[in-house]
Amino acid sequence: TDAGGAGGQAASRALFERALAVTPGGVNSPVRAFNGVGGTPRFITSAAGARLTDADGHEYVDLIGSWGPMLLGHAHPEVVAAVTAAAARGTSYGTPTVPELELAEEIVARTPVERVRLVSSGTEATMSAIRLARGFTGRDVVVKFAGCYHGHVDALLASAGSGLATFAHSGSPGVPESAAGETVVLPYNDRDAVTAAFAEHGPRIACLITEAAAGNMGVVPPDPGFNRFLSETCAAHGALFVTDEVMTGFRASARGYWGIDGAVEGWTPDLMTFGKVMGGGFPAAAFGGRADIMARLSPDGPVYQAGTLSGNPVATTAGLTTLRLATPEVYEHVAKAGEIVKQEASAALSAAGVPHHVQSAGTMFSVFFREGPVRDFDDASGQDLTAYAAFFHAMLDAGVHLPPSAYEAWFLSAAHDDAALETIAAALPGAARAAARA
Ligand code: PMP
Repeated sequence: TDAGGAGGQAASRALFERALAVTPGGVNSPVRAFNGVGGTPRFITSAAGARLTDADGHEYVDLIGSWGPMLLGHAHPEVVAAVTAAAARGTSYGTPTVPELELAEEIVARTPVERVRLVSSGTEATMSAIRLARGFTGRDVVVKFAGCYHGHVDALLASAGSGLATFAHSGSPGVPESAAGETVVLPYNDRDAVTAAFAEHGPRIACLITEAAAGNMGVVPPDPGFNRFLSETCAAHGALFVTDEVMTGFRASARGYWGIDGAVEGWTPDLMTFGKVMGGGFPAAAFGGRADIMARLSPDGPVYQAGTLSGNPVATTAGLTTLRLATPEVYEHVAKAGEIVKQEASAALSAAGVPHHVQSAGTMFSVFFREGPVRDFDDASGQDLTAYAAFFHAMLDAGVHLPPSAYEAWFLSAAHDDAALETIAAALPGAARAAARA
């Protein structure tokens, strides 16, 4: 197949022109734009396994993975069959359904949450978790870490990672002072800052929310014992400990990052949020936690939360089928493929003399275009973005589609077979040299 070289993007270009005329920036989520790396985003018309095909007929090995959900690869035949059958039974009823019940049971079985409520996006999950934490504690202040992204919730946009890191906004206009003013932002992995914040604001803190392992400033795992320390600090001050596993859930391990941290160190979050993999590529997400806290939610409790399409039968069928197919072998394969790509990327960048650092959290990893280690958002922000842009485009030209941002994980799947890994291996040395020249 023809690689997606600069020569043949006529169809994507024409589509992007049309998109710009009707949609801000031509995209429905900012990270899809190529503002950080330059050029025209590829319009993808189909995907199967580890590969994407664009409107010009170019094929790419996919390292975006829909920004996390596609653990099994694209268009897994059993997921497609289950979704097709579900759609044929009707796409939404506005009544309780079996797949949403079974997905909730699957989440409760794999994680420490006792009750779970399904929603349609990670943003809704964190927004609802924070409302519940505030309603449960009767307090207003939320503590978060710089570089952790929890969706575009007003109170959580301050110093978020992801697209905000890519575009170097520190927050967003349109967020009222009153919403941002109740948010305390601290440096990640900084115990002293946490201790000081709780000493100052303790009785007003409703919750501390953290990515179980940060993945939106590149992958930055918590220092050993950090999450446990957070959990104990929250408990000592009557605040809730909320871990956001929208990205890491059912991805970093079968039981998320909690499965390789909390389950080992013996701490349990009061509330958790999930998304991405549990929706199998459809809009499905969730928040859950302690039964006594979740009991404060409507209809049993006074904290209101709702959704016309929450627990949608097609979306929950996709998620449920995906989780059922996510066997230990799937996680082993994703981990092994990750080790190979990490080693090859690092070897290529070293050979070309490009400063870089690879970091992991479970099966998740990212490559920083700076020397490591990266422990917080300040460290992550020191990357050579010009080098990344050159690297990204050289990979794209060689048929590998990385995230168009240096602040993201590289997502692999069970479908990244030897052929896909060979395409990546073949692309890396030239891309590393392009980065060195940039
Ligand atoms: N939390 C985390 C940790 C995320 O990575 C994301 C999405 N990248 C979100 C929340 C928001 O999820 P969504 O995009 O589905 O609103």
